[in-house]
Amino acid sequence: MAAIIELQGISKYYSKTIIGVDDVSLSVGDGEFVTLLGPSGCGKSTLLRMIGGFEEPTHGSIRLAGRDVTQEPPYRREVNMVFQDYALFPHMTVGQNIAYGLKMAGMDRVAARRKAAEALELVGLPDKIDQRPHQLSGGQRQRIALARAIVRRPKVLLLDEPLSALDARMRDQMRIELKHLHEKVGITFIMVTHDQEEALTMSDRIVVMEKGRVAQDGRPQDIYDHPASPYVANFIGTTNFLPATPAGQGQFRVAGGALTSQDAAPTAGAVTLGFRPEKARFLAPGETAANVVEGRVSEVIYYGLGLRTAVDLGGGATVFVDSLLPDTLVRSAIPQTGSPARVAVEPHNVFVFAGEVRL
Ligand code: ADP
Ligand code: MG
Repeated sequence: MAAIIELQGISKYYSKTIIGVDDVSLSVGDGEFVTLLGPSGCGKSTLLRMIGGFEEPTHGSIRLAGRDVTQEPPYRREVNMVFQDYALFPHMTVGQNIAYGLKMAGMDRVAARRKAAEALELVGLPDKIDQRPHQLSGGQRQRIALARAIVRRPKVLLLDEPLSALDARMRDQMRIELKHLHEKVGITFIMVTHDQEEALTMSDRIVVMEKGRVAQDGRPQDIYDHPASPYVANFIGTTNFLPATPAGQGQFRVAGGALTSQDAAPTAGAVTLGFRPEKARFLAPGETAANVVEGRVSEVIYYGLGLRTAVDLGGGATVFVDSLLPDTLVRSAIPQTGSPARVAVEPHNVFVFAGEVRL
């Protein structure tokens, strides 16, 4: 895939001590849907604004479709940005809002209106062209903002937390629609979010950021199944962490027993094991398995989709086991609070991280 965006050693220092982005190199393929994911303050918006030309990098270069645009203002880049608050003109109709940029670029009124109508069709609102923004719902306004952003067919669309102003139900729906829009128009999307679920469901690729740097860059499933660090394992999904000591041949001693992993691992020194609560299961009485830790159930928490059971392994270590419901078989297999429990997890689901984890 040809690269449409190439970032080379990009940094942004707001001052000597405030570092927004720290030496990021990144290549985005033409037509990709890439998400910048991380907690508030990790530099996502700063990086996006530099791609758009709204912020000047302190170091590094930005290439767009093979051309160095580092010193170019936003309007000289074939990039458009969708803002969180939509920024629609309230006194203009939907059609006028969408056509605004086309008219500024010299297109005549009739052609601009036709382009606006096409863009509205793409976002599923063909009949709203003569309405005003205040007559529309939040979700509809967001789609108008999207139509306006794509009407001139930029090479890259930048989206900064585009769904965060919507309520939960509308957000779920817009996730899917935004993904479909991406497929329909074929424009490269670079989206910023702090919402891991949004990133996992929508993107071809996720760039996880940590303190201005790239912590991991990969496909959603690869990042979820093979997090590169405890930070990533903790930020995306839930991970049980257990201090461990290598015992040779991929085996590690932990509170409550020993676990084997298939990860390449240090053979000496302190390590930390990790596994996902939903990748663990309880053994039935009399059942045996290779990779087991033992403890006592300290709490069972109902969360709608299933049960999360806390198991105290002793030595201050607790792990969670998630069991999907409704499934009466599963429910009967979950030990009750206070009873002993054996937790099994397959070796390929056990992560190994060097050192102790402090989160
Ligand atoms: P995110 O979008 O991931 O929440 P930002 O890119 O907005 O993160 O911010 C990254 C860091 O840069 C934060 O420490 C933030 O306080 C700082 N920062 C962002 N914008 C400015 C600015 N205009 N002036 C000074 N510091 C800023
Ligand atoms: Mg931000």
